[in-house]
Amino acid sequence: MPETKLEVKLLTGTPNAMSLIYAAFRQCYSPGFAGDLWSRIIRGEIDPGDQAEFIAKVLESGHDSPVEHVSYSFAVQGVSRALTHQLVRHRIASYSQQSQRYVDESDFEYVLPPAIARIPEARKKFEEIMSAAGRAYRDLKTILQEQGRDKKANEDARFVLPQASESKIVVTMNCRSLIHFFELRCCERAQWEIRKMAWKMLKILKAELPVIFKTAGPRCERLGYCPEGEKFTCGKKPLKTVPASP
Ligand SMILES: Cc1cc2nc3c(=O)[nH]c(=O)nc-3n(C[C@H](O)[C@H](O)[C@H](O)COP(=O)(O)OP(=O)(O)OC[C@H]3O[C@@H](n4cnc5c(N)ncnc54)[C@H](O)[C@@H]3O)c2cc1C
Repeated sequence: MPETKLEVKLLTGTPNAMSLIYAAFRQCYSPGFAGDLWSRIIRGEIDPGDQAEFIAKVLESGHDSPVEHVSYSFAVQGVSRALTHQLVRHRIASYSQQSQRYVDESDFEYVLPPAIARIPEARKKFEEIMSAAGRAYRDLKTILQEQGRDKKANEDARFVLPQASESKIVVTMNCRSLIHFFELRCCERAQWEIRKMAWKMLKILKAELPVIFKTAGPRCERLGYCPEGEKFTCGKKPLKTVPASP
């Protein structure tokens, strides 16, 4: 049962992403038809720099729903079930996760938290528990199979698997949801594993669609202050100052 490593891969995104967002924005403010504008865009008649400038200006005003027309799909592996449980709480998204019912976990891999890895005594304990969980899973499967629960043995034996067990998931989010996801999960307050994954996704998207993602990241980047309050702030940005009452 080896330790596993995080991998984030962009599978695909909506084609002509920037132009699609541009056309959607322009439809809101123009008497013309986005269908005609689209033909002009495809013929190369509208400078991409002008499109980017227009989008950036409108986004600043807070009108951001047209970015929902563009989505990205990522494949992620080497993450724990603890991470995927947090990820799927983001409801404005689509997920396809490796099943523990259909996939045998006899040799499951696991995520080792760095804080545990750094302390030899903690690491040893952790690895012993992973081995014990693996043994328990295999033993239970054998017993269940001997009792005739052949095809369904995985689904019951998996109850002894730890939250650290590795999972693979495909996630699709539109740009608005991604921006929101990065605001929450790139923040230092987010749990380390999902934060690491979020930053990897953001790095890819900053290169893919800079007009939308160049300013994305934890909320404090956009706000200029930390909204987490004194107890949870990481201290990188000042706290919001509340004006003194008159
Ligand atoms: C640091 C941190 C700590 C957390 N701790 C906990 C915890 O202890 N326990 C826990 O249960 N969760 C916890 N969460 C998860 C959190 O409560 C959210 O479930 C998760 O971050 C998904 O955010 P979301 O609902 O905004 O996203 P999405 O589900 O993607 O929703 C996006 C936005 O759509 C709107 N929306 C979606 N669904 C509805 C709806 N039904 N009604 C109204 N508006 C809706 C909201 O504006 C929402 O912000 C934590 C998250 C973070 C970042």
